[in-house]
Amino acid sequence: MGSTIFAEMSALAVSTGSVNLGQGFPDTDGPREIAEAAAAAILAGRGNQYPPVPGIPELRHAIAAHQQRFYGLAFDPDSEVQVTAGATEAIAAALLALVEPGDEVIAFEPYYDSYAACIALAGGVRVPVTLRAPGFRPDLDAVRAAVTPRTRLILLNTPHNPTGTVFTRDELAAIAGLACERDLLVICDEVYEHMVYAGEHVPIGSLPGMRERTVSISSAGKTFSFTGWKVGWVTAAPELIAAVRAVKQFLTFVSSGPFQYAVAEALRMPDAYFAGISEALQVKRDLLCAGLAGVGFGVYPPDGTYFVTTDIRRLGGADGVEFCRDLPHQAGVVAIPNSVFYDDPDAGRTQVRFAFCKRPEVLQEALARIEKWAAQR
Ligand code: PMP
Ligand code: GLN
Repeated sequence: MGSTIFAEMSALAVSTGSVNLGQGFPDTDGPREIAEAAAAAILAGRGNQYPPVPGIPELRHAIAAHQQRFYGLAFDPDSEVQVTAGATEAIAAALLALVEPGDEVIAFEPYYDSYAACIALAGGVRVPVTLRAPGFRPDLDAVRAAVTPRTRLILLNTPHNPTGTVFTRDELAAIAGLACERDLLVICDEVYEHMVYAGEHVPIGSLPGMRERTVSISSAGKTFSFTGWKVGWVTAAPELIAAVRAVKQFLTFVSSGPFQYAVAEALRMPDAYFAGISEALQVKRDLLCAGLAGVGFGVYPPDGTYFVTTDIRRLGGADGVEFCRDLPHQAGVVAIPNSVFYDDPDAGRTQVRFAFCKRPEVLQEALARIEKWAAQR
Protein backbone atom coordinates (compact mmCIF):
# COMPACT_ATOMS: atom_id res chain seq x y z
CA MET A 1 0.00 0.00 0.00
CA GLY A 2 2.80 2.40 1.02
CA SER A 3 4.09 4.06 -2.11
CA THR A 4 0.75 4.65 -3.82
CA ILE A 5 -1.37 5.24 -0.76
CA PHE A 6 -2.85 8.59 -1.84
CA ALA A 7 -3.71 7.46 -5.36
CA GLU A 8 -5.00 4.10 -4.11
CA MET A 9 -7.26 5.63 -1.50
CA SER A 10 -8.56 8.35 -3.84
CA ALA A 11 -9.40 5.67 -6.43
CA LEU A 12 -11.18 3.70 -3.71
CA ALA A 13 -13.16 6.80 -2.79
CA VAL A 14 -14.35 7.12 -6.37
CA SER A 15 -15.16 3.44 -6.85
CA THR A 16 -17.11 3.21 -3.58
CA GLY A 17 -18.76 6.63 -3.76
CA SER A 18 -17.10 7.56 -0.48
CA VAL A 19 -16.43 10.95 1.03
CA ASN A 20 -12.69 11.36 0.49
CA LEU A 21 -10.97 12.58 3.64
CA GLY A 22 -7.82 10.70 2.64
CA GLN A 23 -5.62 12.49 0.14
CA GLY A 24 -5.05 16.07 1.22
CA PHE A 25 -6.57 18.38 -1.35
CA PRO A 26 -9.22 21.06 -0.87
CA ASP A 27 -12.64 20.56 -2.46
CA THR A 28 -12.90 24.31 -3.14
CA ASP A 29 -10.54 26.06 -5.53
CA GLY A 30 -8.47 29.04 -4.44
CA PRO A 31 -9.23 32.73 -5.08
CA ARG A 32 -11.18 33.46 -8.24
CA GLU A 33 -8.92 36.38 -9.18
CA ILE A 34 -5.89 34.10 -9.07
CA ALA A 35 -7.58 31.56 -11.33
CA GLU A 36 -8.42 34.44 -13.65
CA ALA A 37 -4.79 35.55 -13.59
CA ALA A 38 -3.77 32.06 -14.75
CA ALA A 39 -6.37 32.07 -17.51
CA ALA A 40 -5.32 35.57 -18.57
CA ALA A 41 -1.67 34.51 -18.69
CA ILE A 42 -2.50 31.59 -20.99
CA LEU A 43 -4.60 33.76 -23.29
CA ALA A 44 -1.99 36.52 -23.35
CA GLY A 45 0.70 34.01 -24.28
CA ARG A 46 2.59 34.43 -21.03
CA GLY A 47 4.35 31.25 -19.94
CA ASN A 48 2.99 29.04 -22.70
CA GLN A 49 6.53 28.29 -23.84
CA TYR A 50 9.35 27.12 -21.58
CA PRO A 51 9.80 29.64 -18.78
CA PRO A 52 13.34 30.31 -17.45
CA VAL A 53 14.81 27.40 -15.44
CA PRO A 54 15.04 29.42 -12.19
CA GLY A 55 11.38 30.46 -12.57
CA ILE A 56 9.94 33.66 -14.04
CA PRO A 57 11.41 36.83 -12.45
CA GLU A 58 7.95 38.04 -11.32
CA LEU A 59 7.47 34.89 -9.26
CA ARG A 60 10.98 34.85 -7.83
CA HIS A 61 10.56 38.44 -6.70
CA ALA A 62 7.18 37.61 -5.17
CA ILE A 63 8.63 34.60 -3.31
CA ALA A 64 11.42 36.75 -1.91
CA ALA A 65 8.92 39.48 -0.92
CA HIS A 66 6.73 36.89 0.83
CA GLN A 67 9.69 35.61 2.88
CA GLN A 68 10.48 39.20 3.82
CA ARG A 69 6.88 40.13 4.65
CA PHE A 70 6.11 37.18 6.90
CA TYR A 71 9.48 36.29 8.41
CA GLY A 72 11.81 39.23 7.81
CA LEU A 73 14.04 37.00 5.69
CA ALA A 74 15.90 38.61 2.79
CA PHE A 75 16.58 36.43 -0.26
CA ASP A 76 18.05 37.59 -3.53
CA PRO A 77 15.45 36.69 -6.20
CA ASP A 78 18.14 35.82 -8.73
CA SER A 79 20.59 33.72 -6.78
CA GLU A 80 18.59 32.54 -3.76
CA VAL A 81 15.20 31.47 -5.13
CA GLN A 82 14.33 28.49 -7.33
CA VAL A 83 10.86 27.67 -8.63
CA THR A 84 9.99 23.97 -8.81
CA ALA A 85 7.21 21.63 -9.92
CA GLY A 86 5.52 21.71 -6.53
CA ALA A 87 7.23 21.07 -3.22
CA THR A 88 7.52 17.47 -4.37
CA GLU A 89 10.15 18.33 -6.95
CA ALA A 90 11.87 20.70 -4.53
CA ILE A 91 12.24 17.86 -2.01
CA ALA A 92 13.54 15.49 -4.68
CA ALA A 93 15.97 17.98 -6.19
CA ALA A 94 17.28 19.08 -2.78
CA LEU A 95 17.88 15.53 -1.59
CA LEU A 96 19.43 14.40 -4.88
CA ALA A 97 21.64 17.49 -4.90
CA LEU A 98 22.83 17.36 -1.33
CA VAL A 99 22.91 13.68 -0.32
CA GLU A 100 25.71 11.41 -1.54
CA PRO A 101 25.41 7.61 -1.46
CA GLY A 102 25.84 6.43 2.12
CA ASP A 103 25.06 9.80 3.68
CA GLU A 104 22.65 9.66 6.59
CA VAL A 105 19.53 11.80 6.65
CA ILE A 106 17.71 12.32 9.92
CA ALA A 107 13.97 12.72 9.45
CA PHE A 108 11.08 12.76 11.87
CA GLU A 109 8.70 9.89 11.35
CA PRO A 110 5.85 9.64 10.56
CA TYR A 111 7.05 11.30 7.37
CA TYR A 112 5.47 12.42 4.17
CA ASP A 113 5.88 9.52 1.78
CA SER A 114 8.15 11.18 -0.77
CA TYR A 115 10.90 11.67 1.82
CA ALA A 116 11.79 8.01 2.12
CA ALA A 117 11.58 7.52 -1.64
CA CYS A 118 13.82 10.49 -2.43
CA ILE A 119 16.40 9.66 0.22
CA ALA A 120 16.55 6.20 -1.32
CA LEU A 121 16.85 7.65 -4.85
CA ALA A 122 19.83 9.68 -3.65
CA GLY A 123 21.42 6.54 -2.19
CA GLY A 124 21.11 7.99 1.29
CA VAL A 125 20.31 6.20 4.51
CA ARG A 126 17.33 7.47 6.42
CA VAL A 127 17.60 7.67 10.16
CA PRO A 128 14.16 8.11 11.69
CA VAL A 129 13.43 9.93 14.89
CA THR A 130 9.91 9.10 15.99
CA LEU A 131 7.26 11.62 16.98
CA ARG A 132 5.09 9.72 19.48
CA ALA A 133 1.48 10.08 20.51
CA PRO A 134 -0.14 11.81 22.23
CA GLY A 135 1.95 14.98 21.86
CA PHE A 136 4.05 14.10 18.78
CA ARG A 137 6.80 16.41 20.08
CA PRO A 138 10.36 15.92 18.81
CA ASP A 139 12.62 14.06 21.27
CA LEU A 140 15.65 16.31 21.13
CA ASP A 141 17.91 13.82 22.92
CA ALA A 142 16.98 11.26 20.30
CA VAL A 143 17.86 13.71 17.54
CA ARG A 144 21.24 14.36 19.12
CA ALA A 145 21.82 10.62 19.55
CA ALA A 146 20.93 10.03 15.89
CA VAL A 147 23.79 12.21 14.61
CA THR A 148 26.86 10.27 13.45
CA PRO A 149 29.92 11.21 11.39
CA ARG A 150 27.92 10.11 8.32
CA THR A 151 25.02 12.46 9.00
CA ARG A 152 24.64 14.93 6.15
CA LEU A 153 21.39 16.64 6.90
CA ILE A 154 18.23 16.88 8.93
CA LEU A 155 14.97 16.83 6.98
CA LEU A 156 12.29 18.74 8.84
CA ASN A 157 8.64 19.36 8.16
CA THR A 158 6.82 21.99 10.16
CA PRO A 159 3.83 22.28 10.39
CA HIS A 160 4.05 18.51 10.22
CA ASN A 161 2.06 16.15 8.03
CA PRO A 162 0.42 13.89 9.25
CA THR A 163 0.55 14.73 13.00
CA GLY A 164 -0.19 18.46 12.83
CA THR A 165 2.74 19.24 15.13
CA VAL A 166 4.06 22.78 14.84
CA PHE A 167 7.67 22.79 16.02
CA THR A 168 8.22 25.47 18.65
CA ARG A 169 10.91 28.10 18.48
CA ASP A 170 12.75 26.32 21.32
CA GLU A 171 12.60 22.95 19.59
CA LEU A 172 13.86 24.48 16.37
CA ALA A 173 16.60 26.35 18.24
CA ALA A 174 17.80 23.06 19.70
CA ILE A 175 17.83 21.43 16.26
CA ALA A 176 19.54 24.49 14.79
CA GLY A 177 22.18 24.42 17.54
CA LEU A 178 22.89 20.78 16.75
CA ALA A 179 23.09 21.49 13.02
CA CYS A 180 25.62 24.26 13.62
CA GLU A 181 27.63 22.23 16.11
CA ARG A 182 27.84 19.18 13.83
CA ASP A 183 27.96 21.14 10.58
CA LEU A 184 24.75 19.69 9.15
CA LEU A 185 22.44 21.04 6.49
CA VAL A 186 18.71 21.31 7.16
CA ILE A 187 15.99 20.91 4.57
CA CYS A 188 12.75 22.31 5.91
CA ASP A 189 9.44 21.52 4.21
CA GLU A 190 7.13 24.40 5.14
CA VAL A 191 4.22 23.82 2.77
CA TYR A 192 1.70 24.25 5.61
CA GLU A 193 3.30 27.52 6.81
CA HIS A 194 -0.01 29.41 6.68
CA MET A 195 -2.06 26.74 8.44
CA VAL A 196 -1.34 27.19 12.12
CA TYR A 197 -3.95 27.15 14.90
CA ALA A 198 -1.73 27.31 17.99
CA GLY A 199 1.72 28.82 18.32
CA GLU A 200 3.49 30.23 15.27
CA HIS A 201 5.33 28.97 12.26
CA VAL A 202 9.02 29.65 12.71
CA PRO A 203 11.25 29.09 9.67
CA ILE A 204 14.37 27.37 11.00
CA GLY A 205 16.34 29.38 8.44
CA SER A 206 15.59 32.49 10.49
CA LEU A 207 17.49 31.20 13.55
CA PRO A 208 21.11 32.17 14.29
CA GLY A 209 23.66 30.36 12.17
CA MET A 210 21.01 28.78 9.93
CA ARG A 211 20.84 31.17 6.99
CA GLU A 212 23.71 29.47 5.19
CA ARG A 213 22.74 25.87 5.94
CA THR A 214 18.98 25.78 5.43
CA VAL A 215 17.06 24.82 2.33
CA SER A 216 13.51 26.05 2.79
CA ILE A 217 10.71 24.58 0.69
CA SER A 218 7.14 25.72 0.18
CA SER A 219 4.38 25.55 -2.36
CA ALA A 220 1.36 27.33 -3.75
CA GLY A 221 -0.69 24.16 -3.64
CA LYS A 222 -1.63 24.39 0.02
CA THR A 223 -1.56 28.14 0.62
CA PHE A 224 -3.69 29.02 -2.39
CA SER A 225 -5.72 25.82 -2.77
CA PHE A 226 -4.46 25.02 -6.24
CA THR A 227 -2.77 21.67 -5.66
CA GLY A 228 -3.02 20.76 -9.36
CA TRP A 229 -0.92 23.71 -10.50
CA LYS A 230 2.27 22.29 -9.00
CA VAL A 231 4.11 25.51 -8.32
CA GLY A 232 6.63 25.15 -5.51
CA TRP A 233 9.84 26.88 -4.55
CA VAL A 234 13.11 26.73 -2.68
CA THR A 235 14.82 29.59 -0.89
CA ALA A 236 18.41 29.14 0.28
CA ALA A 237 21.94 30.51 0.03
CA PRO A 238 23.33 30.77 -3.53
CA GLU A 239 25.52 27.64 -3.40
CA LEU A 240 22.61 25.53 -2.18
CA ILE A 241 20.26 26.96 -4.81
CA ALA A 242 22.86 26.30 -7.50
CA ALA A 243 23.06 22.66 -6.38
CA VAL A 244 19.27 22.27 -6.33
CA ARG A 245 18.95 23.95 -9.73
CA ALA A 246 21.60 21.68 -11.24
CA VAL A 247 19.43 18.66 -10.40
CA LYS A 248 16.06 20.27 -11.04
CA GLN A 249 16.90 21.06 -14.64
CA PHE A 250 17.18 17.34 -15.36
CA LEU A 251 14.04 16.38 -13.47
CA THR A 252 11.48 18.65 -15.14
CA PHE A 253 13.66 21.45 -16.58
CA VAL A 254 10.71 23.85 -16.12
CA SER A 255 7.00 23.61 -15.40
CA SER A 256 3.69 25.43 -14.91
CA GLY A 257 4.56 28.51 -17.03
CA PRO A 258 1.25 30.43 -16.91
CA PHE A 259 0.57 29.34 -13.34
CA GLN A 260 3.81 30.96 -12.27
CA TYR A 261 2.35 34.36 -13.26
CA ALA A 262 -0.78 33.66 -11.25
CA VAL A 263 1.14 32.53 -8.16
CA ALA A 264 3.28 35.67 -8.37
CA GLU A 265 0.04 37.63 -7.91
CA ALA A 266 -1.24 35.28 -5.22
CA LEU A 267 1.85 35.73 -3.07
CA ARG A 268 1.19 39.46 -3.02
CA MET A 269 -2.35 39.14 -1.69
CA PRO A 270 -3.14 41.17 1.42
CA ASP A 271 -2.34 39.88 4.91
CA ALA A 272 -6.04 39.24 5.52
CA TYR A 273 -6.03 36.47 2.92
CA PHE A 274 -3.21 34.64 4.66
CA ALA A 275 -4.73 35.08 8.13
CA GLY A 276 -8.06 33.89 6.76
CA ILE A 277 -6.65 30.50 5.75
CA SER A 278 -6.09 29.37 9.33
CA GLU A 279 -9.28 31.01 10.56
CA ALA A 280 -11.42 29.11 8.08
CA LEU A 281 -9.61 25.82 8.58
CA GLN A 282 -9.74 26.02 12.36
CA VAL A 283 -13.53 25.88 12.26
CA LYS A 284 -13.34 22.77 10.08
CA ARG A 285 -10.72 21.22 12.33
CA ASP A 286 -12.93 21.73 15.36
CA LEU A 287 -15.97 20.32 13.57
CA LEU A 288 -14.19 17.16 12.46
CA CYS A 289 -12.28 16.62 15.70
CA ALA A 290 -15.42 16.94 17.81
CA GLY A 291 -17.40 14.64 15.52
CA LEU A 292 -14.74 11.94 15.45
CA ALA A 293 -14.23 12.12 19.21
CA GLY A 294 -18.00 11.80 19.60
CA VAL A 295 -18.07 8.41 17.90
CA GLY A 296 -15.11 7.06 19.87
CA PHE A 297 -11.99 7.92 17.90
CA GLY A 298 -9.04 8.98 20.00
CA VAL A 299 -8.37 12.44 18.56
CA TYR A 300 -5.05 14.31 18.56
CA PRO A 301 -6.12 17.83 17.61
CA PRO A 302 -3.49 19.31 15.28
CA ASP A 303 -1.83 22.70 15.85
CA GLY A 304 -1.20 23.03 12.11
CA THR A 305 -1.81 21.51 8.64
CA TYR A 306 -5.21 20.35 7.43
CA PHE A 307 -4.97 16.84 8.83
CA VAL A 308 -6.03 15.24 12.08
CA THR A 309 -4.49 12.04 13.37
CA THR A 310 -6.80 9.74 15.30
CA ASP A 311 -6.50 6.45 17.15
CA ILE A 312 -8.89 3.60 16.38
CA ARG A 313 -8.38 1.37 19.41
CA ARG A 314 -11.47 2.51 21.27
CA LEU A 315 -13.48 1.56 18.20
CA GLY A 316 -12.01 -1.94 18.35
CA GLY A 317 -9.50 -1.26 15.56
CA ALA A 318 -6.03 -2.78 15.77
CA ASP A 319 -4.64 -2.08 12.32
CA GLY A 320 -5.08 1.20 10.49
CA VAL A 321 -4.42 -0.28 7.04
CA GLU A 322 -7.23 -2.82 7.47
CA PHE A 323 -9.45 -0.16 8.98
CA CYS A 324 -8.91 2.23 6.06
CA ARG A 325 -9.51 -0.53 3.51
CA ASP A 326 -12.80 -1.46 5.19
CA LEU A 327 -14.13 1.99 6.05
CA PRO A 328 -15.07 3.02 2.47
CA HIS A 329 -17.11 -0.17 2.02
CA GLN A 330 -18.67 -0.11 5.46
CA ALA A 331 -19.15 3.59 6.10
CA GLY A 332 -18.52 5.37 2.80
CA VAL A 333 -15.58 7.43 4.07
CA VAL A 334 -11.92 7.31 3.06
CA ALA A 335 -9.01 8.03 5.43
CA ILE A 336 -5.27 7.28 5.39
CA PRO A 337 -3.48 4.84 7.74
CA ASN A 338 -0.58 6.64 9.42
CA SER A 339 1.50 3.45 9.53
CA VAL A 340 2.49 4.07 5.90
CA PHE A 341 4.38 7.16 7.08
CA TYR A 342 6.58 5.17 9.48
CA ASP A 343 9.60 2.91 9.00
CA ASP A 344 8.68 1.06 12.15
CA PRO A 345 5.55 -0.93 11.19
CA ASP A 346 4.31 -0.97 14.78
CA ALA A 347 4.57 2.74 15.34
CA GLY A 348 1.37 4.32 14.17
CA ARG A 349 -0.36 0.99 13.56
CA THR A 350 -3.56 2.16 15.23
CA GLN A 351 -3.44 5.71 13.87
CA VAL A 352 -5.59 6.98 11.03
CA ARG A 353 -5.43 10.42 9.38
CA PHE A 354 -8.40 12.44 8.17
CA ALA A 355 -8.17 15.60 6.02
CA PHE A 356 -10.44 18.52 6.92
CA CYS A 357 -9.76 20.84 3.95
CA LYS A 358 -13.32 20.19 2.77
CA ARG A 359 -16.58 22.15 2.73
CA PRO A 360 -18.41 22.02 6.07
CA GLU A 361 -21.32 20.10 4.52
CA VAL A 362 -18.90 17.49 3.22
CA LEU A 363 -17.38 17.09 6.68
CA GLN A 364 -20.92 16.86 8.12
CA GLU A 365 -21.81 14.17 5.61
CA ALA A 366 -18.67 12.19 6.43
CA LEU A 367 -19.45 12.45 10.13
CA ALA A 368 -23.06 11.41 9.59
CA ARG A 369 -21.86 8.33 7.72
CA ILE A 370 -19.31 7.46 10.38
CA GLU A 371 -21.88 7.95 13.14
CA LYS A 372 -24.30 5.63 11.36
CA TRP A 373 -21.57 3.04 10.85
CA ALA A 374 -20.49 3.25 14.49
CA ALA A 375 -24.09 2.91 15.72
CA GLN A 376 -24.62 -0.27 13.67
CA ARG A 377 -21.57 -2.07 14.98
N1 PMP B 1 5.35 18.12 1.64
C1 PMP B 1 4.30 17.80 2.41
C2 PMP B 1 4.51 17.63 3.87
C3 PMP B 1 3.04 17.63 1.85
O1 PMP B 1 2.02 17.28 2.61
C4 PMP B 1 2.88 17.82 0.46
C5 PMP B 1 1.50 17.69 -0.14
N2 PMP B 1 1.37 16.74 -1.11
C6 PMP B 1 4.00 18.12 -0.31
C7 PMP B 1 5.21 18.28 0.32
C8 PMP B 1 3.95 18.26 -1.79
O2 PMP B 1 3.54 19.51 -2.19
P1 PMP B 1 3.24 19.83 -3.73
O3 PMP B 1 1.85 19.42 -4.00
O4 PMP B 1 3.47 21.29 -3.83
O5 PMP B 1 4.20 19.05 -4.55
N1 GLN C 1 -0.02 16.25 0.66
C1 GLN C 1 -1.20 15.49 0.44
C2 GLN C 1 -1.34 14.44 1.50
O1 GLN C 1 -0.47 14.28 2.32
C3 GLN C 1 -1.29 14.87 -0.95
C4 GLN C 1 -0.20 13.93 -1.25
C5 GLN C 1 -0.21 13.30 -2.61
O2 GLN C 1 -1.26 13.13 -3.21
N2 GLN C 1 0.93 12.92 -3.07
O3 GLN C 1 -2.35 13.77 1.53
